[in-house]
Parts: sequence; C-alpha cells; structure tokens
Amino acid sequence: MTLNRRLLLGTAPLMLILLAVGIYAIHLFSKLGGAIDVIMRENYASVVASQNMKEAAERMDSGLAFALNGEEQKGRDSYQQALPLFEQNSDAEAKNITLPGEGELEAKIQRQHADYQKLAAKFFALPNNDPARRSLYFDELLPLFTSIKNTAGEILDLNQKNMVEANNQARAQSRASSQLMVFILLGGLATAAIISYFLAQSIVRPLVSLTESAQQLGEGHLDQHVPVVSHDEVGRLAETFNKMAARLRAYRQSTTEQLLRAQQTTHDALQAFPDPIIVLSPEKEIQLQNVAAERFLKQIGGHLDALAPVSAYIEQSLKGAPDFQPTSFDKAMLVSSDEGEKFFLPRVLAMRKETGAVFGVVVALQDVTRFRVADDVKTDLIATVSHELKTPLTSLQMAVYLLLEEKVGPLNSKQTELLLAARHNSDRLFEMIEDLLDLARFEGGASLIDKKPVSSHELLEEVVKREQELVSSRGLHLEVAEEPHLPAIAVSRPRIDQVFANFISNAVRHSPARGTIKLSAAREGAKAVRFSVKDEGRGIPREMARRVFDKFFRVPEAGDEGVGLGLSIAREIVLAHGGNIGVDTDRGRGSEFYFTLPVLS
Ligand code: ADP
Repeated sequence: MTLNRRLLLGTAPLMLILLAVGIYAIHLFSKLGGAIDVIMRENYASVVASQNMKEAAERMDSGLAFALNGEEQKGRDSYQQALPLFEQNSDAEAKNITLPGEGELEAKIQRQHADYQKLAAKFFALPNNDPARRSLYFDELLPLFTSIKNTAGEILDLNQKNMVEANNQARAQSRASSQLMVFILLGGLATAAIISYFLAQSIVRPLVSLTESAQQLGEGHLDQHVPVVSHDEVGRLAETFNKMAARLRAYRQSTTEQLLRAQQTTHDALQAFPDPIIVLSPEKEIQLQNVAAERFLKQIGGHLDALAPVSAYIEQSLKGAPDFQPTSFDKAMLVSSDEGEKFFLPRVLAMRKETGAVFGVVVALQDVTRFRVADDVKTDLIATVSHELKTPLTSLQMAVYLLLEEKVGPLNSKQTELLLAARHNSDRLFEMIEDLLDLARFEGGASLIDKKPVSSHELLEEVVKREQELVSSRGLHLEVAEEPHLPAIAVSRPRIDQVFANFISNAVRHSPARGTIKLSAAREGAKAVRFSVKDEGRGIPREMARRVFDKFFRVPEAGDEGVGLGLSIAREIVLAHGGNIGVDTDRGRGSEFYFTLPVLS
C-alpha cells in the first residue's frame, strides 16, 4: 500500500467519526426544534383560544350586567361583540384538540355556551324592568358563566401543564444528547489518537532504522541490511538502500581483492630481487623487506643502524633531502660476514605523497663486490699504465720539441708539418695521462686538497681574468653575474681553477657562434656558495645528464675529441672540498654546470 493510501485510510475513520457526530448533531437540533414547534403549534394555540374564550365570556357576562343595571343598549352591544369572539376561539380550539380529555372539555364548553346563548336570548326578550330578568341572571346565567369560565380555565391549565412538561422533556433530552455527544467526541478523540500513533509509528519506525543504518554505512560499516516491512515508498527506500549497501560491499570486495593482488605482486617482485631491499616507516621501523634483506640484516647484526652512513642518508631522506643515488663505486660499503667481505652500494629513496610529504624510505643495497674489484683493478691498471707511459712519452715529446727547434738540423716544410702534428698529439696524450693520473690519485684516496681561505669575489675575478681571452678568441661573450657580499670559502686554488677551466672550455666548445657564456656566483642557502657556467649550446639529453660526470663518458653523437675525463675529475675535486656538482640542462636550451662549496666557518 502506498504511503498516500495509508495516510488516507488512516484518516478515514477520523473523517467518519466527524461525519457521524455532525449528522447526529444536526438530527438533534432539528429534533429539539421540532419539539418546540409542537409545543407552539399545539399547546400555545389552545392556551390563546381558551384565554380569549374566558375573556369573551366575561364580556358577555358584563354585557348582561350592564343591561340589568339600566344600560340596555350598551349591554346588548357588548354581548353582541363578545359573542363572535367566543365562537371563533371555541371553533379554533375545537380544531386543535391534542391532549387526552381536551376534546371532552371542548364539547362541554360548547354545550354550556349553547345553553348560555339560549338563556341570554331569553334574558334580552324580557323587558328591562322585569324582576324575572334579575332572577334569570342570578339564578341561571351567572352560575353558567362561572362554569364556562372554569371549563375554559381547565382547558388553559391542561395545555399550560403540557407545555411545561414538554419543555422539561426537551431539556432532559438536550442534556442527555449533550452527554452522548461528549462521549462520542471523547471516543472519537481517543480513536484518532490511537490511529495517529500507530500510523506515525508505522511510518517513522522504518525511517528511524533506515537513518541509523545509513549512519553506520557512512562510518564504513557496510554490513547493513534494513528489513523491508512494507511495500510503500519507505519500503522501496529500504529496498534501494539494501541494494546500495550490497553494491558497496561488492565494490569493496573487488577493490580489496585488487589491492591484495597488487600487494602480492609487489611482495613477489620484491622477494625476487637478489639485492637486499628494505622499506622503512617515518619512524624507521621496517615495514617490508625481501629475503635478501633479511639475510643481509642478520649478517650485520640485526639493524641498519650498524651501517652508519646509510642511517645518516635515511635520516636526511626523511627530512626531505634529495634521494641518495650514487653513480660511482666509491660510495660502496664494505660489509664483513661469515661469507667473506662484500661491497654494497646503498641507494636511499624517499616515498612521497602528492603533497611532497615523505611517508617512508626505501633502502636498496646493490651487491657491487664484483664491479668494485673490477673497478679497482681497472683504476690500478690505468694508474700503472699511465705512470709507465709518462716517462717514454716525456722523452718522445722532448725529442719532437728538439727536432722542431731545429737544434739537430734544419727541417723541410713537409717534415715540420709532420712534427707539428706529432707535437699536438703528444701534448694531448700527455694531458690525458695527467688526467688519468689525477683521477687515479683521487680514487686511491690520496688527498690532493690543500685548502686555503679565499674571498669568493676574488676567486671569481681571477677566473674571469684568466678565461676571458679564451672566450673572446672564439668570438664569444662572457657575462658575469655575482651576488654582492659573498662569504669567504676555503679552497685549493689550482684544483678549483681546474674545475672552472673544465666548465668554461666545455662551454666554449659547445657554444654557438657569437653565443654568451654566463658565469654566476650566488649564495646557496646559508652554508654554501654556488658557482655556475651557463652556455647557449645544444644542451645534453636529460637521460645522459647525470652520466656526464662518469669516467670516460661522452655524449655519443656529440663527436667531441676529448676522452670524457674532465667532468669526472671536476666531480672528484668538488666532492673532496665537501661540495656538490651537477648540471641543469635540456636538449636545445643550453646547459648550466654548477658546483657548490661550503662557506668558511
Ligand atoms: P671531455 O674532457 O672529453 O670534454 P668531459 O668529462 O668534460 O669530457 O665531458 C663529458 C661529456 O659531456 C662530453 O663528451 C660532452 O659531450 C658533454 N658536455 C660537457 N660539457 C658540455 C656542455 N657545456 N654542453 C654540452 N655537452 C657537454
């Protein structure tokens, strides 16, 4: 049943009660009105008629009395006038006989009136001074008059009494009706209250339970089912609600399954990694680790804290520092265990939310033992070979120079040309060997850094003075942007000059014709000064930008004649100063090579 129909049916009894009470009240009013009507019609008319008859009888009697006392004409007139009045009222009364005994009384009064009329006629026929007249009046007419008056009085009484009775009856009836009406009204009110209560209950109760269930659903308790107790709108709402809850449950089920599957895949992938991988919470508790990590942790005594540098990187990562992703093996850590000595290259990557907030850290430890050994062998080999090559190369170079100076005899132009080429190449070879030796020395751990305080301004000024010529000679423009009042720094001058020279020579080599090279110096936070060299060249593909600092790396299609050692030497120098080195570049937009040096404290 729809809610509409239920409300209609619920209120129908109330309307019926109202209708019944109304009809009854109308009936009662008309009944009371009818009773008054009857009294008016039946009794009141008789009262008036008998009153008039009494009056007419008196006037007829006084007419006779006048005649007796010598007022013959006046007495006759009075009698004649009163006679029709009496008869009219007597006729009216005869037509309005309503009470028991009333008819007899009316017949009696008519009889008496007829006798009275006969005697009166006899009275008026006698001469006015006849003593028989007097005796006729007093002996017969006067007693008959009294009797007529009394009979009329009886009719009057009878009707008056009945009026009083009818009035009392009507009043009693109205009182009884009022009481009945009050009862009916009270009964109606009680019924209405009961019906309204149950009606409200039947509508409100399911709504309350629906509201509670909806609240529970909103709080994530999806196991909600509301009973469908009716087929009205509320019932349909409950059905829809149950369907919605079921849909939500199904949705959650499928999302949970998807999540579980994704979790399982991640877990499996992680386990499949041969290198230890550990995921830490912001509180540095292990949240996830693979088998290799478990084994690794057991070897180092149970916790990552045993690896001092790694826990420092983790700390920095959690504080928002850039990810730690070393590119060379020198950051590898030696871990001794029962299985022997192993080198692990740590990588520390922060897990960030969309807002950038760090919610954990991933530590990956790459086993680089084999590479590290190979790298060491390579470095040693390069160092040895370079060293061994240097002596014969020096004497070769010396011989070429001597020949070119024509100390041992004159040269023809062809010979000079060949020797010039030989000198150029032996110079390059010499530089290369110097670079290799430098690098080998850095990697061997030997400190080549003898730092002395210097003003940043002065350092920059000298670099400009020294490099200006090279830049101008290639038709390029050198621009300097220096922040005023830069703090002092501690550097090994020849080494830092070497870094600038490498940056600027690279910039010159990669600049377009009439390009500008911009040399800048500015503060980097409170504790460092940042120097940079920016050119307008073709830039470096992004994926290669990080690798340009690796040994022997050259951008493949660049076609440079270098061996790819300059930047790796620069990196070693800057790191040895406690600074950072990097490049901002994009293909086609030029490159900005920069390094930072710590402020002198
Ligand atoms: P090299 O000593 O051979 O120049 P570097 O280590 O200095 O080697 O540089 C490595 C590679 O980086 C170079 O081969 C070059 O391709 C690239 N490179 C360096 N500087 C720039 C620059 N300013 N613009 C474009 N590429 C550059």
